[in-house]
Amino acid sequence: MKNLLDGIEDVLLMGPGPSYVHPEVYRAMSRSTLGYMDSYFIRIMDEIKTLLQRLMNTSNERTLAVSGTGMAGMETCLVNLLEPGDDILILINGVFGLRMREIATRLGAKVDVLEFEWGTPVRLEAVAAKLNEKSYKLVAMVHAETSTGVHNPAGEIGALLKGSSALYLLDAVTSLGGIEVDVDGWGVDALYSGSQKCLSCPPGLSPVSFSQTAVKAIAARKTKVPSFYLDIDLIGKYWGGDKRSYHHTAPINMFYGLYQALLLFMEEGKEAVFARHQSGHRKLVDGLEGLGMELLVEESTRLPMLNAVKIPEGVEDAAGRSTLRSKHKIEIGAGLGPLAGKIWRIGLMGYAAREENVDRLLTALRDVL
Ligand SMILES: *Cc1c(COP(=O)(O)O)cnc(C)c1O
Repeated sequence: MKNLLDGIEDVLLMGPGPSYVHPEVYRAMSRSTLGYMDSYFIRIMDEIKTLLQRLMNTSNERTLAVSGTGMAGMETCLVNLLEPGDDILILINGVFGLRMREIATRLGAKVDVLEFEWGTPVRLEAVAAKLNEKSYKLVAMVHAETSTGVHNPAGEIGALLKGSSALYLLDAVTSLGGIEVDVDGWGVDALYSGSQKCLSCPPGLSPVSFSQTAVKAIAARKTKVPSFYLDIDLIGKYWGGDKRSYHHTAPINMFYGLYQALLLFMEEGKEAVFARHQSGHRKLVDGLEGLGMELLVEESTRLPMLNAVKIPEGVEDAAGRSTLRSKHKIEIGAGLGPLAGKIWRIGLMGYAAREENVDRLLTALRDVL
């Protein structure tokens, strides 16, 4: 029988994720599967936890990787922190803020939102004014809005919330591993990320972290967490303590991949990794502007790892991306929502964020345009 896997090409993934996987991560994932209670495997889990704490700048005990993609992390945070009738404020300037609203609404929370034009950042004055009007159990924001390429002011929002009783939830799916994420310094109470963006793993795990205050808020719930699979206390009993207890079978080989990716990050060093994202971004922006293209987001709030560029007049969105994929073996992303057909999203995430890849993409774009 023909094996379709033989036809898989090596595609340079420069879209909004998944990102280009590091070869060492593939190698790690092909190691022998161990049992989920195997003591050697538990040692690897303990190391993953320590490495995640370092990456996130936190001493939060409840730091682990949830089985599932970034959306599982988003759902884990909301499903554990919210009960019906709880007040949540969601700061929205793109697709992923809308997703948080959808999940919070399904959970029966009382949802307030502040919306900002897509392509522009969350504005602090508006948030401060809202917080003066009303108190919230939870305030949620996306750090790196992958749908637009906007860098939201995560530290500044944290500073605004200090001294208030609101818990601070931050989506760090695209930011973690590409720019600074300072959980303890910013006063973040709950954070989720994903393995397949700047960490250069395949999709499948969602690193999360909960502060002591968040853990207490969960313990004080009046109702049970409505999801069994995503109940963070139950998952935590497998990730910590002397006696580990079964909750669900860990996706063992995904853990190997994440572990390897975290080691690669630490070996290269945080400053070097962030500088590599920045220099790739600057080279890309110069090259795009050289081709006469224009970025969507103003320079001061651009993300290095997600570059939203306006599709030039006369160029067909789908056809352009399709030529990149078929002829040049490069994937970039389409625009979403109101930006569909208007922008392309070029990712420089993790292993893809190297100057040689930027050169390859720019050469290909010259051909396509
Ligand atoms: C990709 C992404 C998600 C969702 O992650 P999935 O892996 O697609 O489930 C959530 N938030 C942001 C900001 C993202 O970029």
